[in-house]
Amino acid sequence: MNLLPGEPEEPPSCQTATTLLAKPHLRISSQLPAQSLGGLSARLERFPVGPLTRAFRKRYFPEVELAEWNDWRWQARRRIRTLAELERIFMLSDDERDAVIRHEGSLPLGITPYYASLMSRHDALEPLRRTHVPVGTEYVKTPGEADDPLGEDGHSVVPGLVHRYPDRVLFLTTGFCSTYCRYCTRSRMVGEPGGDYSFSRPQWEQALDYIAEHTEVRDVLLSGGDPLTLSDERLDYLLGRLRAIKHVEFVRLGTKVPVVLPMRITRSLIKVLKKHTPVWMSLHFTHPAELTPEVTEATTRLADAGIPLGSQTVLLKDINDSVETLKSLYRGLLMRRVRPYYLYQCDPITGSSHFRTSVDKGLEIMQGLRGHTTGYAVPTFVIDAPGGGGKIPLLPDYVVGREGDDLILRNFEGKTYRYTDPDGTVGADRALSAGAL
Ligand code: SF4
Repeated sequence: MNLLPGEPEEPPSCQTATTLLAKPHLRISSQLPAQSLGGLSARLERFPVGPLTRAFRKRYFPEVELAEWNDWRWQARRRIRTLAELERIFMLSDDERDAVIRHEGSLPLGITPYYASLMSRHDALEPLRRTHVPVGTEYVKTPGEADDPLGEDGHSVVPGLVHRYPDRVLFLTTGFCSTYCRYCTRSRMVGEPGGDYSFSRPQWEQALDYIAEHTEVRDVLLSGGDPLTLSDERLDYLLGRLRAIKHVEFVRLGTKVPVVLPMRITRSLIKVLKKHTPVWMSLHFTHPAELTPEVTEATTRLADAGIPLGSQTVLLKDINDSVETLKSLYRGLLMRRVRPYYLYQCDPITGSSHFRTSVDKGLEIMQGLRGHTTGYAVPTFVIDAPGGGGKIPLLPDYVVGREGDDLILRNFEGKTYRYTDPDGTVGADRALSAGAL
């Protein structure tokens, strides 16, 4: 593999060098076919820098040249991972400080300098900061919560491959993320992989063999961790192997990288993705504050390369749980050619009660979006059913009832309308009140 001086052999790891040496199964990139898809030009390519981020860099990283700041490997290596690094930038509350000190195991602290530049230094309640800086409630387990609420481990057919739906699989490619969201559904396995979550080369091969042997699998979702933190070479290898399996029609990547590490969307990465077209992408957005010039550049590069882009957003209490916030996010995404796809009710992960809203809140938001803004800007609101039941869509109820052959419906403004539906039964079980018509 062609490496530049100082460039890590691995995608920047959340582990220390000592840990990596002690776990050779984690060092898989050097075993994969080496193709020089990156290089100096990719490292030095231009990327816009938004005003907030520019001021942040000058204040907290004055020694760092713009080209280095825009190098995704530098961003990943310099992630904020310790209390000292966090306190150099943020005025922490006592609760935040205690929670960081107390933390051990998976889902470590991790924030790219770029993403930190979008957060408030003084306000612990600022939305983006709340999603990434731990607080004490993270250690409180409430009823209904579980480490693996979606039952993914129970549906793993080989380590790292979840086969829950008839024709599609979830391929967990890595345990590494460039930032760690405190509400992560896979908090049990990201950041400090081990055991079944080792994401080793043999594990990849087992998963690929399983997919090749199961002709019913036509759809593969690459996730993790974040697959876009893999090197270009690894991604090229993985996508090439999947594309060589005749019955695999549809390949998607689930990623937060374009949002938290947008400079990762290099020209060389785009070449890899185009080589294996069609590849779809689901981007994990949370809040309109993420819609920066950097993110616009990243999504423009992806969309220009013909990669269909959808967004997935988790509904989070006091972070994005209002019509205005999500409307602003979704409209901004449409302008960047990203189609809002799913709005998730927050999964009951252990220690996530402070992030969860009621389901009523989600329905109220859907009611406030549908009809009030462009239909393309309205995602599907879903609950991923605990225990592995899959995604269950939820909609505000627009059926008022039935009168004879007429179905009585309510529109987005609350006005009622009749639709003649002589063969139908929908709404027949509802008693119509006098005021309903
Ligand atoms: S980027 Fe995704 S996988 Fe990584 S911590 Fe956030 S939610 Fe979890």
